[in-house]
Amino acid sequence: MKKHNFSAGPCILPEEVLKKASEAVIDFNNDNLSLIEISHRSQPFVDVIEKARSLALELLGLENKGYKALFLQGGASMQFLMVAYNLLNKKAAYLNTGTWSDKAIKEAKLFGELVEVASSKDKNFSYIPKTYEIPTDVDYFHCTSNNTIYGTQMKSFPETSVPMICDMSSDIFSRQMDFSKFDLIYAGAQKNMGPAGTTLVVIKEDILGKVERQIPSMLNYQVFLDKESMFNTPPVFAVYTSMLTLEWLKDLGGIEFIEKVNEKKSALLYSEIDRNPLFKGVAAIEDRSNMNATFTLADKNLQTKFDKMWQEANINGLSGHRSVGGYRASMYNALPLYSVQALVDVMQELERIS
Ligand code: PLP
Repeated sequence: MKKHNFSAGPCILPEEVLKKASEAVIDFNNDNLSLIEISHRSQPFVDVIEKARSLALELLGLENKGYKALFLQGGASMQFLMVAYNLLNKKAAYLNTGTWSDKAIKEAKLFGELVEVASSKDKNFSYIPKTYEIPTDVDYFHCTSNNTIYGTQMKSFPETSVPMICDMSSDIFSRQMDFSKFDLIYAGAQKNMGPAGTTLVVIKEDILGKVERQIPSMLNYQVFLDKESMFNTPPVFAVYTSMLTLEWLKDLGGIEFIEKVNEKKSALLYSEIDRNPLFKGVAAIEDRSNMNATFTLADKNLQTKFDKMWQEANINGLSGHRSVGGYRASMYNALPLYSVQALVDVMQELERIS
């Protein structure tokens, strides 16, 4: 039986996607050739990347609005520097809500002046700062929509006249919002899309061409836009699997549908964390993430017992990140509600026998 996979990433993907992806590794398109042994310039693969790019825009409601989707390499971490390389002329504003924002800030500092508009470092990033001002003379504002490690999520986004850039690696395609508020969105594939190896970048073309520096081709968004995301050999397997996941999501009913499922899953788990006296939530209640729930045991002496119980219940990937400790249940799009129920059952059983 497949495990209840709460891993934070790489993480669970829909079973039918895994099946189709693995079949394509043996025989793609019934052509007696593997997906990973055909040319990326062949029509069947060009069709795949075009479909993945258009599905991404369609699901985000960004078709015909001046946006293009790219599938790049280097992980979301590469975007920390690529964003700054392409967009930071003099000064940029960053909201610091966790390790990933911190890393984005570190890279951007190599390219210009940084204004950290607010930070939740004072409480180990367990909340989202709400009051801050974004200077109007910055080249852009950068934020992280979901903090995978600490289990916090931005529930609203500031109004600003400057371009808004968002790292949505761990909650893209999971909830409805007005994505046209953002001028550039990036997300590593390995949470809600596919295997590690590609990063989706959705970019409003008119924000480019404003920096004075020379940009190396492999780090230049415009080069990839001009080449329809095929400046060099793309990570074909990661792009194909992402396309399958986006198709799966569209067939289910898109973000509107999956958001409801995600709300049910997180409501089920958070209500147990709050009800069960053996557990405590880590993140501020109003900022809790629907994707990554962080919690601890009220009594650390129960840890060995609890760990044994969830592992025996076929649950995987529940240990918290080393910087937070405790537990983290990641409930990405592909995790079924019954997996969350399986975890809640274990939590209730621990209470019963303790
Ligand atoms: N940003 C966020 C919000 C993440 O959760 C992660 C990884 O978990 C990253 C960036 C880094 O992604 P990558 O490993 O693809 O560079």
